[in-house]
Amino acid sequence: MAAEHTPLVDGFGRVHRDLRISVTDRCNFRCTYCMPAEGLDWMARDDLLTYEELARVARVCVERFGFDGIRLTGGEPTVRANLPVLIEQLSGLGANLSLTTNGTSLPHLAPALEAAGLQRINISLDSLKRDRFEQITRRDELDKVLDGIDAATEAGLSPVKINCVVMRGVNDDEIVDFARFGRERGVTVRFIEFMPLDAQGEWTNEQVVTKAEIVAAIGEVFELEVVAERESDPAARWRYVDGGGEFGVIPSVTEAFCESCDRVRLTADGMLRHCLFATRELDLRSLLRGGATDDDLAAAITAEVGEKWAGHQINQVHFIRPSRSMSQIGG
Ligand code: SAM
Ligand code: SF4
Repeated sequence: MAAEHTPLVDGFGRVHRDLRISVTDRCNFRCTYCMPAEGLDWMARDDLLTYEELARVARVCVERFGFDGIRLTGGEPTVRANLPVLIEQLSGLGANLSLTTNGTSLPHLAPALEAAGLQRINISLDSLKRDRFEQITRRDELDKVLDGIDAATEAGLSPVKINCVVMRGVNDDEIVDFARFGRERGVTVRFIEFMPLDAQGEWTNEQVVTKAEIVAAIGEVFELEVVAERESDPAARWRYVDGGGEFGVIPSVTEAFCESCDRVRLTADGMLRHCLFATRELDLRSLLRGGATDDDLAAAITAEVGEKWAGHQINQVHFIRPSRSMSQIGG
């Protein structure tokens, strides 16, 4: 193990400590804002990094650069076989381990994930109405997700957070329902501004329900106070004054948090991306399979992050949509 960490710093002085690993591009849902109803070829099986390869990249990031957070995502990470095996491999590294999931596998998988060393979990849920849930995800599985939320809590995963993408004219009338849901279930809801990463390319700015609108809607019903910002946490947070917990908003579109970004992403096929919206990637898979040493990997990652841009430019003329959709990058 390296005796000392060398911080992974980009040209703007941002130190990177957080690794998002997409374990698969496959998914058992087809959310309208993420995937097309049909099509979207899966990555070839041989192109996916093995658990050993994923864990090696994570180890290099922790040992060489002092990363302290690793989040597994996808696609739907729980559709990849034996996910607890990967979690076990990662849990020895000492970084905080979390998972983002649509929740459907949790009724049977939550205890095994926790036992393998998973600590935190984010579960995506965009409607509490059965019909609407089906329209958004193209699957009739609301009950499974609700059971999954309970299973995660019962398994001792903490905190359990709910990710809710708010879209105008789709589910923006449920903002207060979600606030109530979070208060009643003891989970933190994080509302996410809709980003231009849908596979169909149909995103428009008018569909984005802004942070200001979300907070105003909840503030009309509950008395709120701002929670102090945590460095590099993309969520702006509010507390219910009556002690009912808190909620967050991730204003990815209206108030990009690029200046405090500390993330790099590894796609399931082994490409390192320094931004969700990056238009370039580092092919780590070729390095891993071509006999690269840990020093080689660390040097390549350092060089790639050195090239990181100041930030994405959604809503500006320069903005270019990445060629991959959210499910292929790993949100
Ligand atoms: N399948 C898992 C899930 O849904 O939680 C993990 C992968 S999913 C791509 C990760 C997160 O990205 C989810 O919370 C999802 O709601 C969010 N997401 C997907 N497409 C989005 C978009 N166009 N804008 C904002 N968030 C999006
Ligand atoms: Fe699947 Fe998650 Fe994308 Fe929905 S948001 S299609 S659950 S990867």
